[in-house]
Amino acid sequence: MVLFLGAALVAAAVVLFIVQPVAKGLHASLEREEDELTETEARKRVALLALRDVEYDYLAGKLDENDYRSLKGELTAEALAALEADEKARSGSLSGGAAAALEAEIAEARAGLSSGMYCPECGFLNEPGSRFCSSCGHALDRTAAV
Ligand SMILES: [Zn+2]
Repeated sequence: MVLFLGAALVAAAVVLFIVQPVAKGLHASLEREEDELTETEARKRVALLALRDVEYDYLAGKLDENDYRSLKGELTAEALAALEADEKARSGSLSGGAAAALEAEIAEARAGLSSGMYCPECGFLNEPGSRFCSSCGHALDRTAAV
């Protein structure tokens, strides 16, 4: 149960990780954003990317199930720790409005996760009732079945 919640939180973070730069209108200046990464953001990014790599490797058959589970458990723990650190760092520097916007994004990501409309492949939040991702065509029943 705890691991599932952790995985859901990390998945939500992956959504935010993908959505956030776009929402902030920074997609045109990604390179500059890299330079402005704080230590906690960099740590979070590394952990989330590693988690995605594990998913890809497992789907590609490069990892067996035991390796996948143990790696995913480790990386999920690290990603959660990094997220917490990043959120603490953020809450100190964000204005009230930006913090509220971030909370709204997290709430939206959680709603997408709980309804199974979040694409595990590309992170796209699909319309409720979608069976396939509108962005990449990946089947969405995997998350719905959990
Ligand atoms: Zn997708």
